[in-house]
Amino acid sequence: MITSPAFAGKKYAVLGLARSGMSAVESLLAGGAQVTAWDSREEPRRMLEGRCELADPVGLDLTGFDGVVVSPGVPLNQHPIAQHAASFAVPVIGDIELFAIARPDLPAHRVVGITGTNGKSTTTALVHHIVQSAALPARMGGNIGLPVLAQNPLDAGGVYVLELSSYQIDLTHSLACEVAVLLNLTPDHLDRYDGFTGYAAAKARLFAMQRPDQVAIFGVSDAKTQSIAARESHLRAPDKVCSVDGKDLAALQSNWPSLQGPHNLQNAAAAVAIAEALGLTPAQWRPALASFRGLPHRMERVADINGVMFINDSKATNPASTAPALAAFPPAPNRRVHWIVGGLPKGDSLDECAPWFGNIAAAYTIGEAGPRFADQLEDVMPVRRSEMMCEAIRQAMIDAKPGDVVLLSPACASFDQFRDYEARGDAFRQIVMALSADDLGSAAGGQR
Ligand code: ADP
Repeated sequence: MITSPAFAGKKYAVLGLARSGMSAVESLLAGGAQVTAWDSREEPRRMLEGRCELADPVGLDLTGFDGVVVSPGVPLNQHPIAQHAASFAVPVIGDIELFAIARPDLPAHRVVGITGTNGKSTTTALVHHIVQSAALPARMGGNIGLPVLAQNPLDAGGVYVLELSSYQIDLTHSLACEVAVLLNLTPDHLDRYDGFTGYAAAKARLFAMQRPDQVAIFGVSDAKTQSIAARESHLRAPDKVCSVDGKDLAALQSNWPSLQGPHNLQNAAAAVAIAEALGLTPAQWRPALASFRGLPHRMERVADINGVMFINDSKATNPASTAPALAAFPPAPNRRVHWIVGGLPKGDSLDECAPWFGNIAAAYTIGEAGPRFADQLEDVMPVRRSEMMCEAIRQAMIDAKPGDVVLLSPACASFDQFRDYEARGDAFRQIVMALSADDLGSAAGGQR
């Protein structure tokens, strides 16, 4: 675990005892802090009995506390803890801030912080893979994998690659990343911010925490990201800021099986710029792009059945992340996309996907957004109102011809029908497998 002598004698409250909250408690206790922990669920509280005080910080006198650690899932714009802590002038922080406080006592290392609306996990995993392939000690954490504090510290020379959501940045005040990256910005999570501007300002704080001699890297796909890039370029030397469009890498992309599509060219371009900022050479990053194996639920090939490819892109929870998935399959004489779309909508429109509608053979609408999306799409493509995932896959299997693609890229959150995007992607995979087994079974039956 990562801990710090800086925690000794300090007093912290920890609100929310899921994975990152629990890792914060353990790290603080190991460092010698006094901890008051709370979760509305009894089970995690019981696990800490006898080791911490157990009380809800919202009802506590916080005088003398050094911080309240909250989980990124707590909506700070609504939850009473924000105001309560402010009334005692106690900072509200997250596990990443504890990591930042612990950094001076860790062996010499560098931190890469990656944020953006879409592509964070892919880019984080890719950078981690590149750094590891170059034989540098590396850890991946933040919004991906294990909480960073739960991991063992790296030996000297190591690189921590952190995926940072806007919520995690909100809870971080002193993380000066050696390399910070903003991939893109499109409207998302607007329930937690004062509009798009507030959301963008939250992401931009990643750069405000850096020193001017540290590197800032930006994607080029939207004006908001570019305006933040322009601001940062006034504040640092030209060799410390760059915007990457990936054009110089396009000719290599066909060698990267898990990084197809225009969005992955952008992710790869950011990853290469990070690798170079860390001092790695093309001889080091080039083979790693080819050997990278993508993450589950992001353009994941789950099956190839009778020449039809089934792709799980369940992580596409907004139209901006579905658009590149549709663009990844240009119409070929024998290839058409059967698009499973819908879920809990984040907005009314699929406009961002519209430029790629020509690639689609038919849409299969599911979930709460289904009827609305079907009404919108019906004028421009054949639509099947499937409602349920199982029905959508069954219909797509009947319609698809060899060479076609059945793509789950829902452009919506999953919570209307599934626990989360992972459960939705798992359901897609299981149903594809079950229906294809049925299919093969009946084919075999027919031969008997
Ligand atoms: P995040 O961690 O930011 O949610 P992921 O890497 O998990 O990002 O990808 C989420 C979804 O966004 C996937 O459906 C993927 O196809 C799409 N996506 C990935 N990178 C980008 C990008 N640079 N621009 C737009 N969409 C992207």
